[in-house]
Amino acid sequence: MAKLSIKDLDLPGRRVFIRVDFNVPIKDGKVDDDSRIRASLPTIQYAIDQGARVILASHLGRPKGERIEKYSLRPVAEHLSNVLGRSVAFAEDCVGEPAESKVKELADGDVLLLENLRFHREEEKNDDNFAKQLASLCDVYVNDAFGTAHRAHASTAGITHHVSKAAAGLLMEKELDYLGRAINNPEHPFVAILGGAKVSDKIPVINALIDRGVDKILIGGAMAYTFLKAEGFTVGKSLVEDSMMQTALDVKKGAEEKGIIFLLPTDHQVVDSYEPIKGQQIVAKTIPIEFTNIGLVGMDIGVETVSHFSIALQDARMIIWNGPMGVFEEPPFDQGTIGVAKAVAEAAQRGATVIVGGGDSVSAVTRAGVADQITHISTGGGATLEFLSGDELPGVSALTDKK
Ligand code: AMP
Repeated sequence: MAKLSIKDLDLPGRRVFIRVDFNVPIKDGKVDDDSRIRASLPTIQYAIDQGARVILASHLGRPKGERIEKYSLRPVAEHLSNVLGRSVAFAEDCVGEPAESKVKELADGDVLLLENLRFHREEEKNDDNFAKQLASLCDVYVNDAFGTAHRAHASTAGITHHVSKAAAGLLMEKELDYLGRAINNPEHPFVAILGGAKVSDKIPVINALIDRGVDKILIGGAMAYTFLKAEGFTVGKSLVEDSMMQTALDVKKGAEEKGIIFLLPTDHQVVDSYEPIKGQQIVAKTIPIEFTNIGLVGMDIGVETVSHFSIALQDARMIIWNGPMGVFEEPPFDQGTIGVAKAVAEAAQRGATVIVGGGDSVSAVTRAGVADQITHISTGGGATLEFLSGDELPGVSALTDKK
């Protein structure tokens, strides 16, 4: 990798500012899911073991420049203390006197978490003065927040102009390594599975994957309906982006001309309406795509599609999956996504490199009980998609080049 790593830094006794992604769900004042915190532990532990004075900073939610108690990182500091088995100090603000005085109190190996960066409007504006204030807290900077690396914010980009060295954390390095391999040096057959709501979000990724030699593209979720409708199928009231139909057709045609296998669902779970009638149970049925009438709404891929997708994965050496196959938040419409989760896990057991990204697909592999079989679970959503699309991530390009 062409950027400095935390391992290249001289850390003993030095103040290291680590931008982490602790944007975790908080319920009743407690951390509800700590996977993002755990993902940064190797970097934090490394800095502690090196005897650095560790300053952690993150955003949480979208407080839009205002101090809103429910977005406070205080519960995260408590949770992190438990996970690390050592006390984690907390500063009431990420800049100014509250932060400065807490940093002064740090001894080698101590850990401090700063309050939510986004309590200041300047963070998202990449304000230079604010970036300078953050930088004044530390000697060296480390970015481990891959999930926000696609945003040029004060704590991900601006700060790097005011520190002597800006390096990637261990999680950031791991993300760039796996995702980089997928776009620069994939093993073949290389299969991409894409789902979710919007085709428009995923077209750049599909194009980039086609350019990088993907062998098969499997499409599920609502985005499949834009392709299906464009091909002349009746999709009823399923979610479609009409303005993207021509683009979808062109992309599919272009892929097939290159010999890429492009699979769309052949059956799906449908309902009569998005809104369940009060007191009535949702009646879902699975039908072939061509049996769809104008009144129906497609909610999930069907068993036949899961089976087609599983067969397509049988010889895969590398798989990238982003986006759910249906409205997986609402059972029974989670079955397609869980079916695909199991299929990619089986492929991993056969030796394929499997990369799963995007919050929904990640929670699907967890719910299917196969998370530990996945080669790499990416912590990024938008960042993963942008990286796979070939875009440079501002939070990565801002890091110091390796000599
Ligand atoms: P995205 O953010 O584009 O990855 O989309 C994720 C969302 O797509 C999830 O909230 C799913 O509920 C939604 N989704 C997936 N399939 C469908 C579908 N068939 N109809 C409506 N929404 C869907």
